[in-house]
Amino acid sequence: MIHFVGAGCGAADLITVRGQRLLGEADVIIYAGSLVNPGLLAYRKEGCKVYNSAVMTLEEVLDVMRSAEAEGKTTVRLHTGDPCLYGAIREQMDALERDGIAYDDCPGVSSFCGAAAALRMEYTLPDVSQSVVITRMAGRTPVPERESIRSFAQHGATMVLFLSTGLLEQTTAELLAGGYRSDTPAAIVYKATWPDEQTYICTVGTLAQCAKEHDIKKTALIIVGDTVSQSGYARSELYNPDFATEFRPARS
Ligand code: SAH
Repeated sequence: MIHFVGAGCGAADLITVRGQRLLGEADVIIYAGSLVNPGLLAYRKEGCKVYNSAVMTLEEVLDVMRSAEAEGKTTVRLHTGDPCLYGAIREQMDALERDGIAYDDCPGVSSFCGAAAALRMEYTLPDVSQSVVITRMAGRTPVPERESIRSFAQHGATMVLFLSTGLLEQTTAELLAGGYRSDTPAAIVYKATWPDEQTYICTVGTLAQCAKEHDIKKTALIIVGDTVSQSGYARSELYNPDFATEFRPARS
């Protein structure tokens, strides 16, 4: 059995209870060493074999999984944040399916959630934005043309940009071309939930300069939109005394 497990985005105690249990039971752990906190390996049992996928190809990862499976062992494939975002899990799962190897998926705290926590921020403020666009700049991995940042920017919604910190000049040009104002608030969150986490509030117009000043080139998320200011919102209906819900009658 192969368990894909979300490691969470930094702090070792942010893994789920289930994820920690699976790590403790695993005979083999293959972890994404470029971003997964190595402190999580402390949860492994004695004799567990550990592989760092940062130095491996897909084929090598699959070979380790197949050998473990042939020996009746349990493998944890530990991915950063939640495996469903930029995790390259589908190609692994498809190969396992072709080989008739069972697998499941244990979610984790994605860095877009860790970044909101670092900023003490709600992405969905009534009257400001009720949507979060999760995307990235095209880099060595292309992005379909219909998903350009420029096109998403037209919505003016909260946007969280992964994998784009090294391309901030182009990103800014796209954000502006799509319609965010140059003074639209923006944030850079470096290593959310790690001990050396850093957060910076700037604007769309000053994103590149802000990253340069603080020498941030990777392991960061860019958050853009009027919600970053965390102001100008309407109070929620859910907790409004005049509003009845399934659980609470209106108070007036
Ligand atoms: N599956 C992961 C994302 C992997 S892609 C998740 O759910 O978070 C790798 C990118 O995620 C990095 O380039 C960076 O943009 C972002 N990232 C991962 N961990 C981060 C962290 N702790 N703080 C800020 N950004 C992070």
